[in-house]
Amino acid sequence: MSFVSHIECTVCGKRHEAGRLLTVCEACGQMLAVRYDLARVAAAVTKDALQLRPPGMYRFRELVPLADGEEPVALGEGSTPLLELPRLAAHVGVGRLWGKDEGQNPTGSFKARGLGMAVTKARTLGVKGLMIPSAGNAGGAAAVYGARAGVPVAVVVPRGTPEAAVAEAIIAGAYVFTVDGSIATAGRLIARVAPAVGWFDLATLKEPYRLEGKKTMGLELAEQLDWDTPDVLMYPTGGGTGLVGIWKAYEELAAMGWVKSPPPRFVAVQAEGCAPVVKAWEDKAETTAMWENPVTHAAGLRVPGPFAGRQMLRILRESGGTAQAVSEDEIIAAQHLLGRLEGIWTAPESAAALAALLRLRAMGEVGPRERVVIMLTGCGFKYPAPPLPAPVHLEGSESAILDAVRRAIGA
Ligand SMILES: *Cc1c(COP(=O)(O)O)cnc(C)c1O
Repeated sequence: MSFVSHIECTVCGKRHEAGRLLTVCEACGQMLAVRYDLARVAAAVTKDALQLRPPGMYRFRELVPLADGEEPVALGEGSTPLLELPRLAAHVGVGRLWGKDEGQNPTGSFKARGLGMAVTKARTLGVKGLMIPSAGNAGGAAAVYGARAGVPVAVVVPRGTPEAAVAEAIIAGAYVFTVDGSIATAGRLIARVAPAVGWFDLATLKEPYRLEGKKTMGLELAEQLDWDTPDVLMYPTGGGTGLVGIWKAYEELAAMGWVKSPPPRFVAVQAEGCAPVVKAWEDKAETTAMWENPVTHAAGLRVPGPFAGRQMLRILRESGGTAQAVSEDEIIAAQHLLGRLEGIWTAPESAAALAALLRLRAMGEVGPRERVVIMLTGCGFKYPAPPLPAPVHLEGSESAILDAVRRAIGA
């Protein structure tokens, strides 16, 4: 049974009927969001009943937009662990620290949630094919779920996109194209080409379902903290689907009466070389402006003109949060730190979120007793390795080998 009531413009409020292919608001061109009959949801499910369901993001079936009998295109996405990080917490100097390890999703990033949901709906609603502009992981995930669904996918990525994400898309049988520029260039190209060839444009937040997949991160986070909220949520921000999605989860759970504590302070983290949200936040602007010459090795953060800039800034204001940019060197150092202290090789994007936490802690914007969640949005091995010390090669006599080992481990 579906609990979707309608689809609504997040800016002008215009109602759109669900059950047909939608892109952006037909009145004002802004971002759409799925709305549910939350009173009916609250009456239909209990926290105890939820606990007994099998894992995966579709266990929250009353709060996802599946129609009656609609089978999701699934590969085991969701139900990622919320890992407590005590050694890192001691190092950073906060009360409690958790990492939501989204790198354990199929495709190695949280893009699996959004694209799994978006591809599911696109197939049901009858697309001929899908075209997606991407910085890497979204294209890979679209290709993978497209293959699983039997829907053809074309991916357009900037030149220099991390090789593993490109390979992932090609192996999944997608048509992959590169362009000079960024995801914004790819997006403008698809906006012209997709209608001409009759395929659906799956650009970030320009259809309402990807957000619903990302929202499940927030539902899980709430459940994993026993329906309590952390004080601070660190989110590495590109197009902002996760940030907007987690906020939406907290809003819906609050409306259902399931979460009573206030939402966390949302922190949008970006790279210094591409920080349109941070710039707009500092300028107290209503929305973001296009960032010229975006550069960062954290590919998912290389989004110079996010479509949901306005919505993200509103969430930062309403939650009492902030926005913070970090340097490329801080990203690499944070990646090493998390690996060394907790054994997690995270993606550069999520390493940026840790780097930003270190900064906010140093500035006193995060206090010593606060409870913090970092969204670990992807796994490190989808990216070229950061600069690393070379391993010590062992050769020669027994005593030479023993000497070399002793020197290396300090024993
Ligand atoms: C896409 C991506 C991001 C940014 O996510 P948005 O929802 O677009 O803000 C962060 N981290 C990783 C690993 C990504 O692939």
